[in-house]
Amino acid sequence: MRCHPDGCQELKSEVRCKKKRPMNLEQAREFDTQDPLGAFREKFHHSEEDIIYLDGNSLGRLPLKSKSIVEELVNAQWGDQLIRSWNTDWLEINERIGGKIAKLIGAKANEVILTDSTSLNLFKLAYGSLKAQGSERNRIVSDELNFPSDLYILQGLKEMFHDQHELILAKSDDGMTIPESKISELLDSKTALLTLSYVCFKTSYMYDMEELTRQAHDVGAHVVWDLSHAVGAVPVSLNDCNVDMAVGCTYKYLNGGPGSLAFLYVREDLQDKLTNPIWGWFADARPFEFDLNFKAASGIKRFQTTTTPILSAAAVEPGVDMMLEAGMENVRQKSLKLTESLIELFDSHLAPLGFSLGSPRNPDKRGSHISIRHPEGYRISQAMINPKEGRPVIIPDFRDPDFIRLGITPLYTSYEDVFKAVERIAEIVASEEYTQHSVSREAVT
Ligand SMILES: *Cc1c(COP(=O)(O)O)cnc(C)c1O
Repeated sequence: MRCHPDGCQELKSEVRCKKKRPMNLEQAREFDTQDPLGAFREKFHHSEEDIIYLDGNSLGRLPLKSKSIVEELVNAQWGDQLIRSWNTDWLEINERIGGKIAKLIGAKANEVILTDSTSLNLFKLAYGSLKAQGSERNRIVSDELNFPSDLYILQGLKEMFHDQHELILAKSDDGMTIPESKISELLDSKTALLTLSYVCFKTSYMYDMEELTRQAHDVGAHVVWDLSHAVGAVPVSLNDCNVDMAVGCTYKYLNGGPGSLAFLYVREDLQDKLTNPIWGWFADARPFEFDLNFKAASGIKRFQTTTTPILSAAAVEPGVDMMLEAGMENVRQKSLKLTESLIELFDSHLAPLGFSLGSPRNPDKRGSHISIRHPEGYRISQAMINPKEGRPVIIPDFRDPDFIRLGITPLYTSYEDVFKAVERIAEIVASEEYTQHSVSREAVT
């Protein structure tokens, strides 16, 4: 049987035809009408300007509820109640919101705390791990697809521990994926720590968390997973995978606001065995006794360190609540349908224009963003953001050398967004509109 590239005119049943006809605008609108998560879109702030926002994997949209929560906090708590608010609302905020995030990542409430930034949390947990593992274990394993900040933290730790450790990075043959076997072969009885991003920031490649955690444990190593591109994007089951430690970001898929506090997870039985390298008073067992000598709190509190920026912390909660209300399985289902539609449109509209796909085709091996690659990727992304008259603004982001990342955030990305974005990218390239933009980079791409 023959399959037409633009659909299956000769076949009644789609099932029999491998090459599915990609979604058209009418179908996209129909999918949006039937979308069980469709109502969430209106719970976010939308500007007057007609924009298609595909960068929720870098900075999530503003939940309307966050505006009212911050306003109420400023007026009633900071304004009226002043310092009394520490006892009524503020002191427990890290553990309270951490407990909610725990439900999104398959952990117990007392295993997660909202605190500091992702990089700092990785620093604290990796330090705790290296110290607990002792000098006999001198190998740290990660990969070259990891977020550079994570690798910088490991390099800094290596120096702090007087260069006793070797940092070994698994290599990617295709610049997009790394088979689990290439990680396993680096794990040995000298390995103290394996740390990886569960979903890779550039390509969306997703590891088998359970398998790699088990293999690390088989050689006696700890594991820290960075969930920054995973939390709110894909279901995560830390307890089921017996994960030791994890960190993650809240300003991406959780819509917590620019620079919002991150979270960290430490499995219950491990908490009191790890040392936080920064002995601040909020990591102390009794901070308000003002004893002159530090005594670490037991439990997850010991990883907090210092006073929390309360305005930032409070703004995280509405996004987390919405994600819980939507349910991670539903979010994942919609994400898969959107990314599948996007890839089908990619094949029909963009591949013929010189694009290659920068994310895995296998849905089980990718998160919720799709990268597309083109030698003119940067200028194409600039034309999307600064369009000619009459065309919508489309906001993706760009990662060197040639990755345009399209963030699919099921709570507010519509099928129509996806269709229109692909149609517009094709227009920018086919008409060479991108040539009117400069190759010089903005500070934040
Ligand atoms: C976004 C991201 C971070 C963020 O680090 P900050 O400490 O918030 O600056 C860290 N790791 C990964 C994998 C990320 O994607």
